[in-house]
Amino acid sequence: MLGVPDLVPVFSWIFLRGKCRYCKAPISSRYMWTEILMGVVAVSLLIRYDLSLKALFYLVFGFILLGESLTDLEVFEIPDGFHLAAILWWCLYLPFPAVLYRRADGRIAGRSCYSRRYPSADHDL
Ligand SMILES: [Zn+2]
Repeated sequence: MLGVPDLVPVFSWIFLRGKCRYCKAPISSRYMWTEILMGVVAVSLLIRYDLSLKALFYLVFGFILLGESLTDLEVFEIPDGFHLAAILWWCLYLPFPAVLYRRADGRIAGRSCYSRRYPSADHDL
């Protein structure tokens, strides 16, 4: 059974020197690199969007896309589960466009672009 030190991303791989604690079987370094890459994605999104629902949305979506990409690189195939997860995750946010499209000034980005191009359309919305 894995202990807490075995579950710390990146460091567990380094401390165990890329080998299983129990059977000493080698563990590919790609797991460590994947964890580092996901950490970079997470920190980048937190820097860009701070702690917010938008950051959470892009974080999970980014992890799904990263998983898709890495799986594709390894086996040249993208399991349908990734697409399904991405679609379901996207659908969760469809009823809340303000979470995704609200700009820093509080306005909804899509509407402001539309309104700028077609000023009279403001009355129709
Ligand atoms: Zn083992």
